[in-house]
Amino acid sequence: MEEKKPQEVAEGATKPSNFIRTIIDEDLKKGKNDGRVVTRFPPEPNGYLHIGHAKSICLNFGLARDYKGKCHLRFDDTNPCKEDVEYEDSIQGDVKWLGFDWGENFFHASDYFLQLYEYAVDLIKQGKAYVCSLSADEMRAYRGTLKEPGKNSPYRDRSVEENLDLFERMKNGEFEEGSHVLRAKIDMASPNLNMRDPVIYRIRKEAHHRTGNQWVIYPMYDYTHCISDALERITHSICTLEFEDHRPLYDWVLDQLDVPCHPRQIEFARLNINYTVLSKRRLIELVEGGHVSGWDDPRMPTIVGFRRRGYTPASIRNFCDRVGVAKKDSCVDMGLLEFCVREDLDRSAPRAMGVLQPLKLVIDNYPEGQVEEFEVPCHPQDPAMGTRKIPFSREVYIEQDDFMEDPPKKFFRLGPGREVRLRYGYIVKCVDYVKDETTGEIKEVHCTYDPDTLGAAPQDGRKVKGIIHWVSAAHAVAGEVRLYDRLFVKEDPTGDKSVDYKTFLNPDSLQVLENCQLEPSLAGAAPESRFQFERLGYFCADIKDFKPERPVFNRTVTLRDTWAKIDKKDR
Ligand code: ATP
Ligand code: MG
Repeated sequence: MEEKKPQEVAEGATKPSNFIRTIIDEDLKKGKNDGRVVTRFPPEPNGYLHIGHAKSICLNFGLARDYKGKCHLRFDDTNPCKEDVEYEDSIQGDVKWLGFDWGENFFHASDYFLQLYEYAVDLIKQGKAYVCSLSADEMRAYRGTLKEPGKNSPYRDRSVEENLDLFERMKNGEFEEGSHVLRAKIDMASPNLNMRDPVIYRIRKEAHHRTGNQWVIYPMYDYTHCISDALERITHSICTLEFEDHRPLYDWVLDQLDVPCHPRQIEFARLNINYTVLSKRRLIELVEGGHVSGWDDPRMPTIVGFRRRGYTPASIRNFCDRVGVAKKDSCVDMGLLEFCVREDLDRSAPRAMGVLQPLKLVIDNYPEGQVEEFEVPCHPQDPAMGTRKIPFSREVYIEQDDFMEDPPKKFFRLGPGREVRLRYGYIVKCVDYVKDETTGEIKEVHCTYDPDTLGAAPQDGRKVKGIIHWVSAAHAVAGEVRLYDRLFVKEDPTGDKSVDYKTFLNPDSLQVLENCQLEPSLAGAAPESRFQFERLGYFCADIKDFKPERPVFNRTVTLRDTWAKIDKKDR
């Protein structure tokens, strides 16, 4: 898959501004951070990335690119969990596929476990952290509510010595999970619940995929994240709005400690898209429940899903740019993403012909056994894409719905006595058809062709409006085409919390057509290559299932334009 790098570099120069860029511009003007701009993308390796993450990736890596700064990739791996390696690999693959590169700046929060521990000891020594031995339930009860202040833990006034001793013994594995935690000593009466003596360390006797059994205590996200940012000398720590209430804690931790710098946390609105769900928890549920074939099911809003569907990195980046950066949550129309995909594929995808629901058309006056080859452009506007040869013979397949027994006047396709042009070929006239009288199914259409109309208008000046696609029956390769539709039938499947969002799964989101007839050149398509099947849409050779002897294509997106419009351009 060749992605055009030079264009990426140019993208930045024309980017519209946003409030984050304004903040960075001001910081640079003031000479903050010695003129450095360093961002980071900090995924938790507990699932595959989705389009919301793509938004964060494009934002963070995009800023680094535009300001000639750096963007770190950091795995937020504070939860010991077995499956992390698979997820880490996929996340790195996705970021690269999107066209971004972290270079040497590859980190794990677990790289800092020792430093984080030492900082915690420092907090204890300053009297700003204590070991609390309340149970989880008790702690919840002491915490208070939004309306009522919390109560101090009875363990809050343990001496520094006792805390140091207990914390060390927690680290040494002397206590059971849940028996003690380390908490920051801030303010149990704070209106911000995050500031009511948050837990910063807990005991978890589970192996970590990178540090093994070295640790039995693990730092909490809020405590880890700000220190990791500071140690990496991040300048702008960009996160989603739900962390706004955590910012006072982010700043509090860094203010207490002797860290190399104090990054600025900036929050922006999460990306939401209609007719889908963007949350790892729900996506996992769809995969594990067998509602989709896997993380890379082309209906999934995951990067691997979109990739398998045929979306291009450029179209996803473009979408993220168009959506912009907001401070208020909103929901973006899936149509915008599809628009970006079409826009990119219209430019980049070579054309081909494929018949999804074949109907045989016999040209009665075409010599039996004769074969012609038409050399046709791969792209109507881009001669650099070259040409391809398509064979033509006496029997071709056309689309079932390009023939009607009793068509209305405005039907510019085939019907008894009507004429149509076979794309790149001759004008044919329907002289007969065969019908199964019991089922009503049309079995075959018979035509005659006008030999003077190859690449030329009829000599008598008669007008033939319709042009249909076709493939030569003797040369076509049979293949499978998978048509995808929205995963959910409801715009906001999770909007009503009283109804399980899975109730709104679209039962018709996948349609498999097993007897498609494709032009022979498509048998040589590389897996993951994308085409416009003329009049039908954009299709991508399936990355897993495509074989030359059995081509499998996924429909990426339909064509919005009508055939008439496309055709005018071509001529
Ligand atoms: P999810 O809610 O889907 O489980 P998450 O936020 O838990 O996602 P992380 O791995 O923690 O996933 O996220 C990595 C980064 O991606 C974070 O900075 C997070 O803010 C950002 N991110 C996640 N979802 C979105 C979204 N929908 N829009 C924009 N950024 C997002
Ligand atoms: Mg998260």
